[in-house]
Amino acid sequence: MVEGKEQDVEDVAARDAAIEEIAARLGVGAERGRRFAELTSLRVGGAIDWVLSPGNEEQAATLVNELEQRGVAWRPLGSGSNVLADDGAHHYAIVSLKELKAEPIFAGDRVSISAGYSLPRLCIDAARRGLSGIEGLNGIPGTVGGALWMNAGAYEQEIGTVVETVRVARAGRVVEIAGSEVSWNYRHTSFEDGELLLGATLLLHPDNPEEIAARMEKAKGQRMATQPHGARSAGCFFKNAPASPIGTGKMIDDLGMKGTRRGGAVVSPKHANFIVTEGEDARAADALALAEEIRARVKDEHGIDLEYEVELWSSK
Ligand SMILES: Cc1cc2nc3c(=O)[nH]c(=O)nc-3n(C[C@H](O)[C@H](O)[C@H](O)COP(=O)(O)OP(=O)(O)OC[C@H]3O[C@@H](n4cnc5c(N)ncnc54)[C@H](O)[C@@H]3O)c2cc1C
Repeated sequence: MVEGKEQDVEDVAARDAAIEEIAARLGVGAERGRRFAELTSLRVGGAIDWVLSPGNEEQAATLVNELEQRGVAWRPLGSGSNVLADDGAHHYAIVSLKELKAEPIFAGDRVSISAGYSLPRLCIDAARRGLSGIEGLNGIPGTVGGALWMNAGAYEQEIGTVVETVRVARAGRVVEIAGSEVSWNYRHTSFEDGELLLGATLLLHPDNPEEIAARMEKAKGQRMATQPHGARSAGCFFKNAPASPIGTGKMIDDLGMKGTRRGGAVVSPKHANFIVTEGEDARAADALALAEEIRARVKDEHGIDLEYEVELWSSK
């Protein structure tokens, strides 16, 4: 992983050669020259040295183990719908989970899925089979792995509540751990940096497919009515503050900040806790400056230190 562990391989050429050798031997897709602006839903952010795309869970487990043994810094990425990467050059490897998208395996009330599978698709698959428990999560963009990592939730459902087991990469192996061993908190879990999530088995419960579909439609309607649609965003930028009875979006709205623009970043006129980026020249620095301005205003008015829900990835 990246934090707390500077690249052991000082020589970039030696690191690159190591990555090329590992990727070729394992048959893992390896790309250079990508930018976070292409890899994240905010569509901003600088260059990333490598994007490595394993094709199945075993391969992913082997890959990260070998990267670690060779001292190559890496970081997992799903669909990039909760990440703001800064504009600098990021000198590590992304392990993209997007190719871990084998069809879900349904058995009774259970479903086993790999980390790269689309969460919205999974919600639809489950609803069609008359399985309830994740229909409220249907509008959350991204992969199952990203949702597990931060315990994604909406409309009174959180993924953590239906996780029976999670498959993680440990010492080059796929290891299954019980969902009950994980702390599933508000947009945060006890998984530690360096833990690669490979898949999960969810335990859902049977219900009338029409009623599940109706709940899904209702959640979708609420989302469409209250959130910017088709915009370049990362969802809610800040968490709701536990000490405050007012939601963060309302707090920012009450400050009159909807529509506030800094460079190519704007506080969404539709939902004040969404920062959206616009135009070819938008930069991560614009979104960050606007976010910090919001934090300062909320601190002044309410004495609350807003916590980021979006993950800030630094190139430094
Ligand atoms: C329009 C919009 C609406 C949204 N609404 C909601 C909402 O209602 N509720 C909600 O909870 N979120 C919401 N989000 C945020 C986002 O969709 C979720 O956080 C989603 O679960 C992120 O999945 P991802 O695959 O894009 O993860 P990424 O953004 O790719 O990654 C997020 C974090 O998870 C880590 N990660 C990803 N995959 C793995 C893995 N396999 N193993 C280990 N770590 C991993 C990454 O390293 C990163 O730290 C919204 C976003 C948008 C753009």
